[in-house]
Amino acid sequence: MTIWNPWHGCKKISPGCQNCYVYRRDSQFGKDSSIVTKTSSFSLPIKKNRAGEYKLQATEGDVYTCMTSDFFLPEADLWRKEIWDMIRERTDLHFVIITKRIHRFVQCLPGDWGEGYNNVTVICTCENQEQADARLPIFLECPIRYREIIEEPMLEEIHIEPYLASGKIRAVTCGGESGQNARICNYDWVLETRRQCLAYGVAFYFKQTGARFQKEGRVYQIDRRFQMAQAKKAGINYYPEVNLIIDRSAQSVEEILQRLSHSEFRSRFQLSLEEISYIKKKGMETIRRHAEDFIRQRLFPAEILNDGKQTPMRGHPVFIAQHATATCCRSCLQKWHGIPKGRELTEEEQDYVVSVILEWLYRQMKPYDLG
Ligand code: SF4
Repeated sequence: MTIWNPWHGCKKISPGCQNCYVYRRDSQFGKDSSIVTKTSSFSLPIKKNRAGEYKLQATEGDVYTCMTSDFFLPEADLWRKEIWDMIRERTDLHFVIITKRIHRFVQCLPGDWGEGYNNVTVICTCENQEQADARLPIFLECPIRYREIIEEPMLEEIHIEPYLASGKIRAVTCGGESGQNARICNYDWVLETRRQCLAYGVAFYFKQTGARFQKEGRVYQIDRRFQMAQAKKAGINYYPEVNLIIDRSAQSVEEILQRLSHSEFRSRFQLSLEEISYIKKKGMETIRRHAEDFIRQRLFPAEILNDGKQTPMRGHPVFIAQHATATCCRSCLQKWHGIPKGRELTEEEQDYVVSVILEWLYRQMKPYDLG
């Protein structure tokens, strides 16, 4: 995961902003968070090194954009066009935008947005029922390819069933509030949102407990260092298998290879003559078995310590195919293929990954005689 803050500073807009961490952190340095300024990271996605390569690589995961501000803040209207240009240029990266200003979404779009860029997920924040009912109807009407909801800081029990029923929400995340004056997050509220997600087959993620966490009538003070770990320990995240299977079958191998062909980064991967002669020598059936082994060893487990680094850049044609098809690590699998991290791959998913890899290899080998 990468954080890209092209501007810094924000204006409080709703109850969730009361103890905003940007304000809290800036106040330690005597800084006024309500003043919005461009940052030195403004052009981060298009910065290049001396070799002319982008400094920010897709292997570094999703790019969380505007985490110390709001993407749709009016104060940033003059700068946003440049940001869209960068997002459009970096089709190999996936950008995540979290906002409390979904009401400004349509007026802030670039001319070629259409039904939404393929490399952007928009997450609408709802901290209480009032904000959910104000923002989510607008959110559902916006042209967005990947929509998620975040209930953070969660301030009360929230009912989002009508919005989940639309089938347009991919995932919901819950979390408490951090800081000294944090308001309580009640575990029952979290479980209630989870229940709703299960009922509608929507992925659910409990991100962190917050600093004051109530469970079974008792309030716990939880140090910031343990808030995520405690949430994970609850073991209540939910990934709806059926939806993901449907998503992937709808997204055929042909379609995913088409999408990947638009990525400058992925298109750079091609087989060398050495790798081509290796495939000819071994035959495709052997290569398939190698691919199955690699996937089982390096992608199958729920927890992978070196995720993002487990697939070498050379040494076997399958490795090259994995980078070309975004099947090199669990983050890429999640981003490009909709297969979530944090759990073991099913047999069907392993077969799917191998099919994508094999298809890419077949296409690379087409000009050569496989016999
Ligand atoms: S919208 Fe987000 S960044 Fe802006 S004040 Fe509210 S909580 Fe802070």
